[in-house]
Amino acid sequence: MNVSALKPLRDAALGLLYPETCQICNHERAKPAEGFVCPPCWKKIHFIRPPFCDRCGLPFQGAITTKFECANCREMDLHFSYARSAVVANAFLLEIIHRYKYQRALWFEPFLADLLIREAAPVLAKNPYDLIIPVPLHPAKQREREFNQAGRLATRLSRATQIPLNAKLLRRVKPTQTQTHFTRSERAKNMQDAFALRVGEPVNGRRIVILDDVFTTGATTSACAKVLLSAGAAEVSVWTVARGI
Ligand SMILES: [Zn+2]
Ligand SMILES: [Zn+2]
Repeated sequence: MNVSALKPLRDAALGLLYPETCQICNHERAKPAEGFVCPPCWKKIHFIRPPFCDRCGLPFQGAITTKFECANCREMDLHFSYARSAVVANAFLLEIIHRYKYQRALWFEPFLADLLIREAAPVLAKNPYDLIIPVPLHPAKQREREFNQAGRLATRLSRATQIPLNAKLLRRVKPTQTQTHFTRSERAKNMQDAFALRVGEPVNGRRIVILDDVFTTGATTSACAKVLLSAGAAEVSVWTVARGI
């Protein structure tokens, strides 16, 4: 039997293991090399490209020649050095994240992690970081949801970048309300004292990356950064998969 005769058999076997349709729209055909996401769905993913705010990563239109402070930063007291996100949190992407997070659609995880890793890994490689810390869930919420999406994405980023992960160092000590309908200042207030460090965990002089799924105003990640910096961390930066614009 020659090799070409085996090919249909091999393809049939792969077809059993992998979905042949796009994992997002379940409609178009999609290949493994595209992460099982079809070309029309890929078109709805928008990577964040300059120009954007140096601090919070908010993209803006046109060229900026002078020192620029974006509207979000002006209203927020942000503690991290910078925040960056891989893609725009448009309705399409938020739907994927929602299904991943709340309906346990775990097959979206490699796709979401891939978006993050392809943008974050080259940037993180330029500056050595000591630790990746996912934004923790409150224990009650974690029990209910059974997994922390930020923790799972952080594990994949850690594997890809070789930066050690520590998912135990930071704890969420206050069960915070959903922030969807909050203003910027309400979000910041809601996050006040929401996080604490586990006693005896050394962060002194460490350069830390905080990882979350979605960045909206920065209230959550900034509250994490504040705790780490006051414990002596040398630098705290933030990466998320998606960013609201
Ligand atoms: Zn599709
Ligand atoms: Zn900004």
